[in-house]
Amino acid sequence: IIRIEAVDKWFGHFQVLTDINLQVRAGERIVVCGPSGSGKSTLIRCINRLETVQKGRIVVDGIDLTAGGRNVDSVRQEVGMVFQQFNLFPHLTILQNCMLAPMRSRRLSRQDAEAIAMKYLTRVRIPEQAQKYPSQLSGGQQQRVAIARALCMTPKIMLFDEPTSALDPEMVKEVLDTMIGLADDGMTMLCVTHEMGFARSVADRVIFMADGRIVEQAPPQQFFSHPQHEITRNFLGQIL
Ligand code: ATP
Ligand code: MG
Repeated sequence: IIRIEAVDKWFGHFQVLTDINLQVRAGERIVVCGPSGSGKSTLIRCINRLETVQKGRIVVDGIDLTAGGRNVDSVRQEVGMVFQQFNLFPHLTILQNCMLAPMRSRRLSRQDAEAIAMKYLTRVRIPEQAQKYPSQLSGGQQQRVAIARALCMTPKIMLFDEPTSALDPEMVKEVLDTMIGLADDGMTMLCVTHEMGFARSVADRVIFMADGRIVEQAPPQQFFSHPQHEITRNFLGQIL
């Protein structure tokens, strides 16, 4: 469902991604990890075209993002994204946050958008918070709203960029549990995270990046027990 071929990306003179090749099948769960500045966020932002690339090809659900043309922005409807900072609209209620994109981009009626919003707020187990504003919720609750909001667009792929790293420790589990639920439902997921327990139990593949390259990738069991490269071993030594 995602095909990335020989992608290079620069910010000015700085090469942030080098020769990235990655294929993701529908339903696959990928965890991306690696040192700070290795290009993890940039890579997943390329998948929903928050960033463009200078070289190579990215095809998402049959849409060639590197071909140009107007249809490339339609990829945002297929790809949901959850950020470290929850990025909810502070002046809108939880319900309104979830209704906005379906009404604007999918042209749903208010009634239908509300029904879908309540369905996914129930799914992340906070339907009772619908009329509150983001600032009235805990971090973990806000992040679950962010996940529900993304799901309201019925995406085929969900991207997560360190969704738990801004949370207090006691709230990490509720967000990870929500993500595990999504995985159990068969969602295609790419998660940048250093939650290695999550990687072990959920990921089909762990990808390790350093200096803008994919250094290695393997099923979690193999990745954790037999890392191939010195730099991977060092990294795991630091975070485990
Ligand atoms: P972290 O773990 O700290 O989130 P990361 O692996 O997600 O790191 P990126 O955010 O992808 O790393 O950044 C990779 C490199 O690209 C960094 O050196 C960063 O400074 C640089 N970079 C990121 N965004 C931009 C930008 N918009 N303009 C210029 N340089 C950028
Ligand atoms: Mg990042």
